[in-house]
Amino acid sequence: MSRPAIAHIRLDAFRHNYRVAKQQHGGNALAVVKANAYGHGAIKCAKAISNEADGFAVACLEEALELRKAGIKNPILLLEGFFEMAELAEIVANDLWLVLHAQWQVNQLLASKLTKPVQVWLKLDSGMHRVGLSPEQYISAFERLNQHANISKIVPMSHFANADNLNSSHTLQQLALFQHTVLSTKNHSLKDASLANSAAVLGWPQVFVSHPQKHWSRPGIMLYGAHPIDTHLHNQSLRPVMQLSSQIISIHSIHQGDSIGYGSIFTATRDMLVGVVACGYGDGYPRSTIGAPVAVNGQITTVIGRVSMDMLMVDLTHITATHVGSSVELWGDQVQANAVAKAAGTIAYELFCNVKRVQFRYSDTNQSDTDSIT
Ligand SMILES: *Cc1c(COP(=O)(O)O)cnc(C)c1O
Repeated sequence: MSRPAIAHIRLDAFRHNYRVAKQQHGGNALAVVKANAYGHGAIKCAKAISNEADGFAVACLEEALELRKAGIKNPILLLEGFFEMAELAEIVANDLWLVLHAQWQVNQLLASKLTKPVQVWLKLDSGMHRVGLSPEQYISAFERLNQHANISKIVPMSHFANADNLNSSHTLQQLALFQHTVLSTKNHSLKDASLANSAAVLGWPQVFVSHPQKHWSRPGIMLYGAHPIDTHLHNQSLRPVMQLSSQIISIHSIHQGDSIGYGSIFTATRDMLVGVVACGYGDGYPRSTIGAPVAVNGQITTVIGRVSMDMLMVDLTHITATHVGSSVELWGDQVQANAVAKAAGTIAYELFCNVKRVQFRYSDTNQSDTDSIT
């Protein structure tokens, strides 16, 4: 028998979530599959929606080439553009779109000799202050790129810092600066533009409702079924894609006053039944969790003691009919990844990206559904 830790990836759920994202936004949607599709497997996820996806977004050329080699023909956007000029030839040869987020990229792109013009997404720093051109840089870069032989099209874009906070006015300030700056460039309208990540798609319709179909959203986390806005932890329209599961490999009792695990951080306040699960931080389950929810045999209980590399322990005291081999869901349908993330002081994005060593199994229950879409 092999180790029972499994990440089950439901591609039909991924496809469903893509459709939800696209429908909520109303325009085109670039499915963000960077970082190996947030740990879910970029090729498998991309193939599951290649018949219908308007395009994909990845971080870098290497990630895009992986998809091209797997036969993905849809548009692919490089979210960080290029890191050195030498990449430009391959970017052109593989028909990739690229973000220009810094002045040096604009300069190098204009100084290079391309065999074919490329589509660029010109990124404005509208208030996140991570990457992107300042409004002044943006306006001058736009004029230099516009009509240049290396450039086939310019799509204005920006990224929100606080779209997951529905009480923050920052998103609308960023939107206003974006609109003002883009409209200050010569001959430009807002008919092609890209702003919305998952949180904006779900929480900020003001960002896109007034725009025509050509607006591009860039949903990431929602495609994997985790809601980016805390207050929507139990949103029904999104389906969890990853189910991380394992099994109970040992059961024992401890007495009131006994401590368990490394550092003895948990002490029993009553006699307890403890189950040991074959999953730990070596699989990507966060060591920093305290009292995270977990489902055993479909019943919710908690993780107790410190998570170790290969194992973690759960309270089985009130769980019925458990035995060695009982199924355990670490996150998925019964346990929200967001709830585990909260117990770990992090976000579901990081949990998903960290999953490793476990067996990855893929299923797609309504593949024919996709096939019927032309
Ligand atoms: C990662 C990323 C996204 C997707 O963000 P989610 O919060 O996962 O929806 C969108 N745009 C850019 C520029 C990104 O880097």
